[in-house]
Amino acid sequence: MTRAWFRGVLIGLAALLAAEGVSAEQLAKTAFGAMKLPAATKPEVFGFYSKGCFQGGVAIATDGPHWQAMRLSRNRRWGHPRLISVLERLSRDGAAVGWNGLLIGDISQPRGGPMLTGHASHQLGLDADIWFTPMPDKRISRDEREKVSAVSMLKGDGLYVDDRLWTPAHEAILRTAASYREVERILVHPGIKKKLCDTVTGDRSWLRKVRPFWGHNYHFHLRVSCPSDSPGCKGQEAPPKGEGCDASLAWWFTDEPWRKSEGPEKPKARDVMKLSALPAACMKVLAEPSPASEAAVTVGGKGDVATASATTAKPVEANAFAPVPKVPLPEPRPQP
Ligand SMILES: [Zn+2]
Repeated sequence: MTRAWFRGVLIGLAALLAAEGVSAEQLAKTAFGAMKLPAATKPEVFGFYSKGCFQGGVAIATDGPHWQAMRLSRNRRWGHPRLISVLERLSRDGAAVGWNGLLIGDISQPRGGPMLTGHASHQLGLDADIWFTPMPDKRISRDEREKVSAVSMLKGDGLYVDDRLWTPAHEAILRTAASYREVERILVHPGIKKKLCDTVTGDRSWLRKVRPFWGHNYHFHLRVSCPSDSPGCKGQEAPPKGEGCDASLAWWFTDEPWRKSEGPEKPKARDVMKLSALPAACMKVLAEPSPASEAAVTVGGKGDVATASATTAKPVEANAFAPVPKVPLPEPRPQP
């Protein structure tokens, strides 16, 4: 292998990437943050929750019978169909156990990847944030969805749950989410984990999936496991055996996890991560064509998933937008 040959290959590769309009040295957050629509191809995720991307994403409708999506301007209602169907199911099952409906926060960008702001993970379309505030009976206006904030479940700025805010329905929605096979783990504030440890009766095995983590006092973070259509998805190690109400939880109530780190703050991963750090397939994901419209790949609202395959260039069989299970849906409601 000569040097000239190697150089030729490099130049050829660079030319190819330049033709696609992206360079591997570009910041990944800029490239993925600019994507307005998903890659219209069969769903597949590549990489890890905090370093990856996905294709064939679908959006959850802004409004469903038992959910409302928040912060619509962020365009983060996108996920792998596996996650979107879990959210629909949770919204229905939640209503049956006393949770009025889901206020859905960030899911992923249309093609995943790191974001311009917030979140280290949420890159594969397999993570979603659900507010601890149940959905109100009224439809929230688009404008209000930008402004209203969730309510912290903690008392003051302490580490413990405010008992005036915690209800059996909070436990029930977490229990329901944890009961799904697809749900790999749920992140909550340590104070909330402690509340569950102290109060849950009956079957407690589901507590294993509920893990304490910084933040997560305004919302819980639901993560589904790698879909079978994605051999390039890197799963996370299963949570340790047991309920997790042990020394590992007690650690959160020491000073250590809350101590400010000394020295200069390290830059956040998303601020330095280049496209070359992501799985190679993510370059291809950026170059894939978009679907005809957002509505064509929106689930649970006006967009009919069954028609999505017809509006893209791919053959119907190759387009796995279809596997999203159909649920009975109401007529789409106009935005107030
Ligand atoms: Zn999250």
